[in-house]
Parts: sequence; structure tokens; C-alpha cells
Amino acid sequence: MKLRVLGCSGAEMPGHRQTAFLINDNMLLDAGTAASVLDENAQQQLKHIFITHAHLDHVNSVPALVDNLMLSRSPSSIKVYGLKAVLETIRLHLLNDKVWPDFTKIHNHNTETPVMAYVEIEENTWMDIDKVRIKAVPVEHSIPAAGFLLEEDGRVLLYSGDTGPTESIWNAASQIHTAIVEVSFPSRMNDMAFKTGHLTPSLLMLELAKMPMPPERLFISHIKPQYQDEVIDELLAMKMSGLTIIKEDEVYEI
Ligand SMILES: [Zn+2]
Ligand SMILES: [Zn+2]
Repeated sequence: MKLRVLGCSGAEMPGHRQTAFLINDNMLLDAGTAASVLDENAQQQLKHIFITHAHLDHVNSVPALVDNLMLSRSPSSIKVYGLKAVLETIRLHLLNDKVWPDFTKIHNHNTETPVMAYVEIEENTWMDIDKVRIKAVPVEHSIPAAGFLLEEDGRVLLYSGDTGPTESIWNAASQIHTAIVEVSFPSRMNDMAFKTGHLTPSLLMLELAKMPMPPERLFISHIKPQYQDEVIDELLAMKMSGLTIIKEDEVYEI
């Protein structure tokens, strides 16, 4: 499984893009950033967008992506996947024919195919997308949210999405090869992390202890740029094995 980091920051500013991970060229995990990073050809290869939750920093690029697809010379369409509550929020508050058109009602030129379709996913249920199996596991955030587990060729990737202290996702697979876990704030802001449904380095340690086996590689994402140096210093001081502070534009083989 190939993972390209389009954006992995907890906020948007120069040098910091919002969350989006490209899997095998045709699947996105979250779409906080995509249309301004991928070229036209790469955007047309996208077929599946899995959304962890409806916060803007994870769906920001969906409107631009579907608009680009509609205007592209070779007609293509895209599916947007999420838990029922997540899709409902996108439908009602983003692609609602007011903020932006409802692209499920707009067809590619000369075709019967809508530009996009919603696919509601059941929590804790594997589904097959080409060679990748994927399942959503609910996590604890300020709005309904899930993380994802992906498996290809026996290799398992866990992506937490945005979460505070949570339970079931850490046991959702017997072994996890790579875990992308959010850490938004430094540990001195644990109160803020609890209130907003995020993690800090010290909370992350407690979460990792819930896993049956530690992941081979631990990728950290969603650090707030305002606290980036402090969070990274704390994480490095903890000497966790396999720790990587992932970077935008990097490609990793899972
Ligand atoms: Zn969020
Ligand atoms: Zn977020």
C-alpha cells in the first residue's frame, strides 16, 4: 500500500496543509487538502474519498475536487464514504445547493453518471475497495467521528482521524504495522485536548498502552503549527519506537 501525505497539519498556514492522505493513487483518507496539491491527471484518478468526520479541516477540498471533476475533459465520478452522521452533515451544510452545489444531482457532460455519490458505511465492517480492505471504527471527538483500518497484502494501516482518549480502535486488528495517530497539543494542554477531543504526547502514551502490540511504525499527524516545536520535542524525549513525524509530500510504503 502506498501512502502519500498531501497534508498532515492541525491548521492551515504557509507550509502547513490540512489533513489528507492519498492511498494507492485512487483513494483519499480525508480531504482537507487535495485540489491544490494534486495535478489534474492525479485528481481524475481519484475514485474514493473516505471522510473521518465533517470538520472543515478534513473536508475542505471536497467542493473543489468535485467541481474539477465535473469540468474535466474525461468524465469521471467519485464516491464519498463516511458514517451516516458524517455524510448527513456534509449534505446539509456543505454541498447543500447553497454553500456549493449538490454534485450528486449534477451529471458529467454526455453521461448519465452523477459527478459524485455518497456511500454510507457501517461501523466495524470491512469493505473491499480494489485490493484494499477498509473499515471504520468510531472514535471520541467533539462530533461523530471514526478512524479507519486498511489492509492490503497482510499489511495493516491504522488512521485515527481526530480523536481524544478512545478505546475500540486500538483493538480493531491483532497487529498494526503503521499507525497514523493525531497529536494536536503539548501535554501541558491536556485539559484543552480532553475538551476538544484531541491527544497530546502524554495522552498518546496512555492510548498506545491499550494496543495488544505496539505498531511497527508510529506516524504522528495533526500537530497544531503554533505548538509544533514543543510537541515534537516532547515526543522525541519519550523515545517511542518507530516514531516518525510525517511530512507533507512524503511517500511511504506501508
Ligand atoms: Zn476535528
Ligand atoms: Zn482536524
